[in-house]
Amino acid sequence: MNREVRVRFAPSPTGALHIGGVRTALYNYLFAKQQGGKFLIRIEDTDQTRFVPGAENYIFEALEWLGLTPDESPLHGGPHSPYRQSERKPMYREYAQRLVDEGKAYYAFDTAEELDEMRKRLTAAKVKSPQYNAITRMQMKNSLTLPADEVQERLDSGEPYVIRIKMPRKEEIRLHDIVRGWVMVHSSTLDDKVLMKSDGMPTYHLANVVDDHLMQITHVIRGEEWLPSAPLHVLLYQYLGWEATMPQFAHLPLILKPDGNGKLSKRDADQHGFPIFPLAWTEPESGTAVAGYREEGYLPEALTNFLAFLGWNPGTTQELFTLSELVETFSLERIGKSGTKFDIKKAHWFNQQYLRNKTNEELLAYLRADLSRAKLEGHTLNDTQLLQICELMKERATFPQDILAEGRFFFEAPTSFDTGLVAKKWTAAAAEVIQAYSQALNTGQPATWEAEAIKQLLHDTVEAKQAKLGQIMPALRIALTGAGAGPDLMILQELLGKEAVSQRLSFALQQLSVQA
Ligand code: GLU
Repeated sequence: MNREVRVRFAPSPTGALHIGGVRTALYNYLFAKQQGGKFLIRIEDTDQTRFVPGAENYIFEALEWLGLTPDESPLHGGPHSPYRQSERKPMYREYAQRLVDEGKAYYAFDTAEELDEMRKRLTAAKVKSPQYNAITRMQMKNSLTLPADEVQERLDSGEPYVIRIKMPRKEEIRLHDIVRGWVMVHSSTLDDKVLMKSDGMPTYHLANVVDDHLMQITHVIRGEEWLPSAPLHVLLYQYLGWEATMPQFAHLPLILKPDGNGKLSKRDADQHGFPIFPLAWTEPESGTAVAGYREEGYLPEALTNFLAFLGWNPGTTQELFTLSELVETFSLERIGKSGTKFDIKKAHWFNQQYLRNKTNEELLAYLRADLSRAKLEGHTLNDTQLLQICELMKERATFPQDILAEGRFFFEAPTSFDTGLVAKKWTAAAAEVIQAYSQALNTGQPATWEAEAIKQLLHDTVEAKQAKLGQIMPALRIALTGAGAGPDLMILQELLGKEAVSQRLSFALQQLSVQA
């Protein structure tokens, strides 16, 4: 039977969506679109104690920014509404009850103290990982050990209880993972996980399996940290009689720290100075605010391209893929098993490539916004000049804001000079040539104010003074921009205009002749 491909991204809104979560969402999206299927978002908010206000909206905003629009979600609706687990609470009960009735799960009345005691007892008996399992359950207070009438009495009197899965004692649980191949787990290593909590809420495991079934999910694509839960999920599919339509699993490799030593964390990101969240986020409790990839100037298409390569590769040397090219090329089979190091330099590279491909008009929109943020909108440059600045600066920029950061001198004349730089580059010989050049400008040269003519005049002046162009240029750059490096000096002067160039040269000569 050929089912329509249906995949889901199922985040828990317990904080800002992490960049690893974004990758999971991206892979789900790519696979769904490529297969002509559906991409769902289901909010897994059964753990009310970990609910964080704003976290759900954040997920939608981040995915929207990246162009990963879901076909079904709490926000977009769909045939399986509601898509928020807290609103589906009554649905789960029925399945937990069915498992109890069929002897595949049971009521457990143990208090926190009793559970603690059990753990202590087992630890004292040198049991490595004490758990509530096929052996220990027989010493605990549950519907397998208590007489039926006592169980009924406890239930009737409203005593708190949980429902636990009855894990088989000796059984091999096998599951085929698209990324990792066959995974075999012996049931004796698994515990009797709680399926239904005492507050009547399902745990992640039950809600996740029930919803994946009801929402007709065909492929579960999620992070490797969920692999240990997968055998339990497989068992639940078997117990509930849903094995024939059980989704296929694909557990994504870990995203590793830049040095490859363990899983990437927020702390690593802070330490290396890169964001861990797609968008800015303010921690509701502490009020701590951090910038995201968007605010730091990463382009959405660069970020999706970068994230796509964190665990997948196309098998060719092509690196640049738009979202629709990724949809065409992506396959679960080309996802690697081993973790991938997070390399922010690679993200910079992708950003540069996409920035360079933007039209000058697109970049101008960024530049205008940055100018207004910097309160520099009072400049006298016209649109043609601004577009030329974008053209000139984009080759050197990684982020849109670099155009202003690296080209601030277009809008503001230097008011002071870096003494270290001056000591290195501002020589008496250079000052003499620049003086002569400045005088030539004041006497009406060159005839036309354009890069070629400016260059000719400079060459002539350098030659007349028997100096070397290579020694003059760095000093001229300091005088005009205050910086040690930057774009082509002739085009730069043409853009600045003769008057500004003249003024800046006089100012620099006056300031720096004392130091030289
Ligand atoms: N709610 C889980 C999470 O927060 C979903 C795991 C899964 O996809 O099954 O990641």
